[in-house]
Amino acid sequence: MYKIAVLPGDGIGVEIVPEAVKVLKAVGGKYGHDFEFTEGLIGGAALDAVGEPLPKATLDLCYNSDAVLLGAIGGPKWDTLPVHLRPEAGALLPLRKALGLYANLRPATLYDALIDASTLKKEVIEGIDFMVIRELTGGLYFGEKKREKTATGQVAIDTMVYSTEEIIRIARLGFEIARKRKKVLHSVDKANVIESSRLWRETVIELAAEYPDVELIHMYVDNCAMQLVRWPKQFDVIVTENMFGDILTDQASMLTGSIGMLPSASIGGKIGLYEPSHGSAPDIAGQKKANPLATILSAAMLLRYSFNLNDEAAAIENAVVQVLNSGYRTPDIMESGGKPVNTEEMGDRVVEQIVGY
Ligand code: NAD
Repeated sequence: MYKIAVLPGDGIGVEIVPEAVKVLKAVGGKYGHDFEFTEGLIGGAALDAVGEPLPKATLDLCYNSDAVLLGAIGGPKWDTLPVHLRPEAGALLPLRKALGLYANLRPATLYDALIDASTLKKEVIEGIDFMVIRELTGGLYFGEKKREKTATGQVAIDTMVYSTEEIIRIARLGFEIARKRKKVLHSVDKANVIESSRLWRETVIELAAEYPDVELIHMYVDNCAMQLVRWPKQFDVIVTENMFGDILTDQASMLTGSIGMLPSASIGGKIGLYEPSHGSAPDIAGQKKANPLATILSAAMLLRYSFNLNDEAAAIENAVVQVLNSGYRTPDIMESGGKPVNTEEMGDRVVEQIVGY
């Protein structure tokens, strides 16, 4: 029996999450697992219902679950509220913090069937399949921030802080994941200029002694940004600090075509959080146009990283490949000759593949 907290959230979140739940139920049925799903409120939906974006009941639900499946939160209705009440600052960041999620994993996998959906040349992106591991709770985003008045205006100061412990735990995850893949780890920093990057590099080099089977390659972040579009196939696992990872993962997402295809996992604590990389897409919400595959693939990551159910995760991923190869397309990935499906129909096609119709 595995307990899964289900937080659909706002906008397309309420359309895509039920599709992922449907797929998880199909996998559970096929492999004989009992998944128990309990829904909770988060984001704008929680604000409207109980006046706060991350109610205690939702936090308790997450603490009492084995994993959390999230849709997306936010929307224009709540954009003008004070920052602490806005869905992202008031719910998503505190939830990640409360669950101790210090690592964000984003795979960049290009499905052959979607090769024409990317803006890059086919020969550059064909076959890419790498993982970016971003540190999620340290660095510039969490360091001290302040403003000071000067004679002519103001000075704004952000602080980039990393401790040896924070670097070791994320780098270790990088080595462990690299070990299960092609045994090549790119550690991305800016050690030629930034002190926290120098500590990062020294620490990663020391840790590498424990992983002699993994080839460690250091790369400056500016070079990495360039290499990602020049020759992305050189990468298998990238590990980097918070802000560099934020920027590089968005860049990597475009290699694979649509943001509607990109899953993510935030791990590090006892309970992992799985969500698509995109937001609540208010422009298409309620129209059954949303692509549920990023959320369905996030559910596959949930099975792999929280429950260690690797065959079951692969069953979902293979089903997605089959559905794409069969030509089914939501509007965001539509191409000439594609078979149009709505959100629910795309979920149905994946379920059919899993149960083996
Ligand atoms: P977005 O990711 O919601 O949408 C960007 C574009 O991608 C839109 O054109 C949208 O239609 C499209 N898109 C996104 N997901 C799609 C899918 N599954 N299928 C098809 N098309 C899809 O980003 P945004 O417009 O900048 O933000 C909208 C709202 O989402 C904002 O309130 C923002 O704060 C919030 N947001 C939430 C999260 C989160 O919950 N983790 C992340 C990012 C943005």
